[in-house]
Amino acid sequence: MALLPLPAATASPAPSPSADRAGSETPAVRLENLAKSFGSGPLDTAPTFAVDHIDLDVRDGEFFSMLGPSGSGKTTTLRMIAGFELPTAGRVRLHGVDVTNQPPFARDVNTVFQDYALFPHMSVGDNVAYGLVVRKVAKPERVRRVADALDMVRLAGYDARKPGQLSGGQRQRVALARALVNRPRVLLLDEPLGALDLKLREEMQIELKSIQQQVGITFIYVTHDQEEALTMSDRLAVFNRGKIEQVGAPAEVYERPATAFVAGFVGTSNLLRGAVAEAIVGRSGTFTVRPEKIRLGDPDSAAGEDETSALGTIRSVVYLGPDTRFVVALDAGSELVVTQQNLTTSSMEALALQGTAVRLTWKRQHNFPVDNDG
Ligand code: ATP
Repeated sequence: MALLPLPAATASPAPSPSADRAGSETPAVRLENLAKSFGSGPLDTAPTFAVDHIDLDVRDGEFFSMLGPSGSGKTTTLRMIAGFELPTAGRVRLHGVDVTNQPPFARDVNTVFQDYALFPHMSVGDNVAYGLVVRKVAKPERVRRVADALDMVRLAGYDARKPGQLSGGQRQRVALARALVNRPRVLLLDEPLGALDLKLREEMQIELKSIQQQVGITFIYVTHDQEEALTMSDRLAVFNRGKIEQVGAPAEVYERPATAFVAGFVGTSNLLRGAVAEAIVGRSGTFTVRPEKIRLGDPDSAAGEDETSALGTIRSVVYLGPDTRFVVALDAGSELVVTQQNLTTSSMEALALQGTAVRLTWKRQHNFPVDNDG
């Protein structure tokens, strides 16, 4: 769960007229050796780092996700970018300017939180206008900008409603409008869709991505949902225990995970290690292969020259509608998950395969070496 911020969206200064948003080489956000320790407990003398000396560049205008399990340091990193949390060590730069010691309101960023943090007694229009009122923007401009922001999140005409009269998805859109109306150069989003049900979340993912493309603002999006991160991001960073294990485009991170942790967290952990790797891949090391790259066949079927193959027995079958997921116990030891599209297979046929001996084959090029850290 994200830690709660101040109830209001952070007011941000008007963007500098000289700010050149397009094609800027300077990263929107640069984190240098950034660390945060919350101090050690009475029995614990060594400081534990919630964020453990990370370096990261987020490019201007990109949709960047910070992905990782609960407690891996994503929210703390986001809060240090926003200025809600002071780093123990390291620097935060926004568009080249060192803001490490600046308070939140002096930074050209806004934050959208999972719990919306809307003022319940204020109308939608007043909630959205809040940051502009704080910054003393003149009323005619305020009215225009609030209307534009509500239009952008498809809530035109909802100005007079109270947050309590809206659905969860609509409330989240008001929170987004309230941040966008300030025209920040960087928008920080902390699990903003976490409270929504799956269908609405998927709709909002598409909407958020299209709004980001429309406004061209840098989005930094915290999530523990790998599918969400893969769907929406231009690039993502995978966090584990306060460190970043990999940064890359979704396809890169999914297809070529750098570490065993990334292989397991972003997708299914299909790892071949030690003697099993030597027997199957023919080389020592740790390798990962994605479940959808593996073909199930008869044990007598032959593997091609450019293929890796392994004999095994189907231990379990889960029918998932469009796909079926098989767990195969390998004769060489260990197990692999295989997913197959149900192009012609029915659930009955798939479930009947449990206990069957099979040969698994996949292209050699789909064996990816990973650091054996996990
Ligand atoms: P989640 O997805 O659950 O929000 P996260 O990846 O965002 O997790 P953080 O909230 O950044 O993780 O927490 C990282 C670590 O720092 C955790 O071990 C957490 O307990 C600890 N932590 C965070 N805030 C504080 C605090 N104010 N005081 C003490 N420890 C904290």
